[in-house]
Amino acid sequence: MKFTVLTLFPEIPRAFFENSIMAKAVEKGIIAYELVNIRDFALDKHKTCDDNPYGGGAGMLMKTEPLCRALEKVNVKPKTGKKNGKKRNKTKRVIYVTPSGKPLTQKIAYELSREEELVFICGRYEGIDQRIIDSYIDDEISIGDYVLSSGELAATVIIDSVYRLVDGVISSESLEEESFTDGLLEYPQYTRPEVFAGMKVPEILLSGHHENIRKWRLKKRLEKTLRYRPELIAQARNNGKLTEEAEKMIEEITNPSPLSGETGD
Ligand code: SAM
Repeated sequence: MKFTVLTLFPEIPRAFFENSIMAKAVEKGIIAYELVNIRDFALDKHKTCDDNPYGGGAGMLMKTEPLCRALEKVNVKPKTGKKNGKKRNKTKRVIYVTPSGKPLTQKIAYELSREEELVFICGRYEGIDQRIIDSYIDDEISIGDYVLSSGELAATVIIDSVYRLVDGVISSESLEEESFTDGLLEYPQYTRPEVFAGMKVPEILLSGHHENIRKWRLKKRLEKTLRYRPELIAQARNNGKLTEEAEKMIEEITNPSPLSGETGD
């Protein structure tokens, strides 16, 4: 899979591509990447990449021409050939990262991980001209309800969420029990030492009893999801992902019987 990033600050995503598991995936040839500096496509002597917005208002917008030339350089075609809402760059999906896009989720990350190439446009200033969005962009994606000063961190967050789902990057077992994979948050985890700062690892995890550990973990996942993200429980229920066992545990967590003082911790 290939990631192409169009940016005014290539050093920001570069640090991610050159380190850790991503660097290994690149070395193995599972992932390829290209960083394109939009400023290289500004033709005036000052390499200007911003301009005033029509209609006035605070701030500047990214200039259209350097961005279009950068898109051309990486073979992204305008949407004129788009049919029935399908993307026209068959092997590329073009993403503009923006706070006004659809929120990134694990489901979207899975969907993107099946593409051959993702091309990211990182905005700066107040963003990009709407006509660039209309003519080139397949998806507008936000990484959350807050505003960053430019798109490189957002693009890098999306790339990180996607590449680790590509076959061969990390083990499929590690992915199976992660937060969101089956609609719930992850259970708490512990490593050595057995007692840390006076706090002991829950006894059940030392018992070696796999079935009890599985049940404890499921209960902890449900407790955590109910506490922090109750809407995920409703979603998992609607998607048929809550087993009878999980529903029973939810009942116990939300309406604890006065006699049950047992926590397993
Ligand atoms: N004027 C824009 C607005 O109000 O929606 C904000 C522009 S922001 C200062 C500059 C750039 O940072 C955006 O064009 C976008 O590429 C990126 N950005 C900022 N926050 C983001 C977020 N939450 N998700 C994705 N990209 C973001």
